[in-house]
Amino acid sequence: MRTIQGIGASPGLAIGPARVFTPEDLTFSVYAPADREAEWQRMTVALQSARVQLQEIGARAAVQLHPEEAAIFDAHLQMLEDPEWHSAIRQSILEEGKNAESALMESAERYAAQLEALEEEYFRARAADIRDVARRCLRILLGKPQPDVTLNQPSILVARDLTPSDTVLLDKTRLLGFCTAEGGATSHTAILAKALGIPAVVGAGQAVLTIATNERLILNAHRGTVIVEPDAETLQEFERARMAEQNRAEQERAHAAEPAITRDGRQVEVVANVGSLEDAHRAVALGAEGVGLLRTEFLYLDRQTAPDEEEQYHAYKAIFDVMGARPVVIRTLDVGGDKELPYIDLGHEENPFLGWRAIRMCLDNPDFFKTQLRAILRAAFGHDIRIMFPMIATVQEVLQARALLTEARADLERAGIPFAERVQVGIMVEIPSAAVMADALAKVVDFFSIGTNDLTQYTLAVERTNKRVAHLSNALDPAVLRLIARVIEEGHKAGIWVGMCGEMAGDSRAIPLLLGLGLDEFSMAPALIPHAKALIRACDVTTCRTIAETALNLPGYTDVEALLTSSVPAL
Ligand code: PEP
Ligand code: MG
Repeated sequence: MRTIQGIGASPGLAIGPARVFTPEDLTFSVYAPADREAEWQRMTVALQSARVQLQEIGARAAVQLHPEEAAIFDAHLQMLEDPEWHSAIRQSILEEGKNAESALMESAERYAAQLEALEEEYFRARAADIRDVARRCLRILLGKPQPDVTLNQPSILVARDLTPSDTVLLDKTRLLGFCTAEGGATSHTAILAKALGIPAVVGAGQAVLTIATNERLILNAHRGTVIVEPDAETLQEFERARMAEQNRAEQERAHAAEPAITRDGRQVEVVANVGSLEDAHRAVALGAEGVGLLRTEFLYLDRQTAPDEEEQYHAYKAIFDVMGARPVVIRTLDVGGDKELPYIDLGHEENPFLGWRAIRMCLDNPDFFKTQLRAILRAAFGHDIRIMFPMIATVQEVLQARALLTEARADLERAGIPFAERVQVGIMVEIPSAAVMADALAKVVDFFSIGTNDLTQYTLAVERTNKRVAHLSNALDPAVLRLIARVIEEGHKAGIWVGMCGEMAGDSRAIPLLLGLGLDEFSMAPALIPHAKALIRACDVTTCRTIAETALNLPGYTDVEALLTSSVPAL
């Protein structure tokens, strides 16, 4: 028995045989081709075939799998079509006289190395994407088939690292978990494992490569450990824990459709964060009472032109129809920061997170913004829809946005097109100025939804994607908690409801605290809903209030974490 330590990237326990995935041998020779033009032609044909393969896998991923996976292949297609990369390869073949294989791999390696040198984990993960795309082209040049990742029995997949294309071809019904030597918490393996709800341990180092196929493994992704060939006693202990975990999850799912009422009778709404039609289906299946955040970016990103009113209308309506009579909070476009649009020049900014993003950009492009508002109002006809503006910093912005909403209504009325007459209008409270001005803002909106991801970033001045300052970024910091407490209190004084759609709302440690602060609505990833509801049912508000009051007066988040860990209610 030996234990390997890694990073738990998707929680859970898995026990089963290892299936070691070794990437195929793609060695190639380096030579100077006699006919450079013909060599470039050979490369162009390979790029073309890679495009066809990616389109096919992308289409398969979009229907059968998860939007997260489909998005990976869109990104691969974009990389494959990158004109700068093409001209680098072309130059090495035509001007430097290299063969296609070496021109391709050298340029890809250069590109990947540049990304790897960057501080942010996100970019380092993109280096893996580039290598994946390049290997696909290389395989085509060498005339080799796509790799075999079949699982003959339920197994834990073990690999140095997994490329997105490997994972998309996997039979997910036999996949018990992932264990990789490389990769971090934001690698594709981690994203995919979370989306599939299966345990994953990543970044466990070279020791992972000593595991052989069919060796028995215990994957404890709660602690980031992998136990290889456990002794009988350890196996028994984990088998019991895994069964208990599975039973608990099954129980929670069986009760997911029931309301979330605390032991002392307070009912709160548990709703979903949704970014696609598939998410909406998943949300309903997992007991969501509505949608607390519909991120509309999915319609705008990864394309060359903006979606028109008709396309938006159909996309929103499809999601509203899935949700039926349940309420849906739809957020207007939130781009900028780290999300760019090719068809709107956001310009170069020194500090994009403090720049021209979300509502700021929309208010400066009223026609563009009104197109989205009209599409939402039309799709909302016959549904309970609430419109939410992101990144509100001032009362003035809300008034401006509301005025454009009135204009959008008037446009539809003039054209005789049916639309929802009554929609609630609310804002995301995710900028400290909005939290401070909550009393004034509560007078001009119907609800607040607290965005703790950005609120934490702006309160503590820690950029969301910067790893070096990540230790300062914690939504449980008392500074953030005090702002949250204020927003809920001022909202309630003004008689409006207050929800939360940042990651914190689905964090089981934070749920009792938020109940104690009086939060009305909790919006989270669909997969978290059954457990969150079970937890709420085990809480009582009086105890939660004491927890909240204590937390607000602690000096730092580590103290808050310690308090919350010691006061988790028994399930
Ligand atoms: C937030 O900031 O908390 C939020 C929910 O919005 P996003 O993560 O989309 O910025
Ligand atoms: Mg935000």
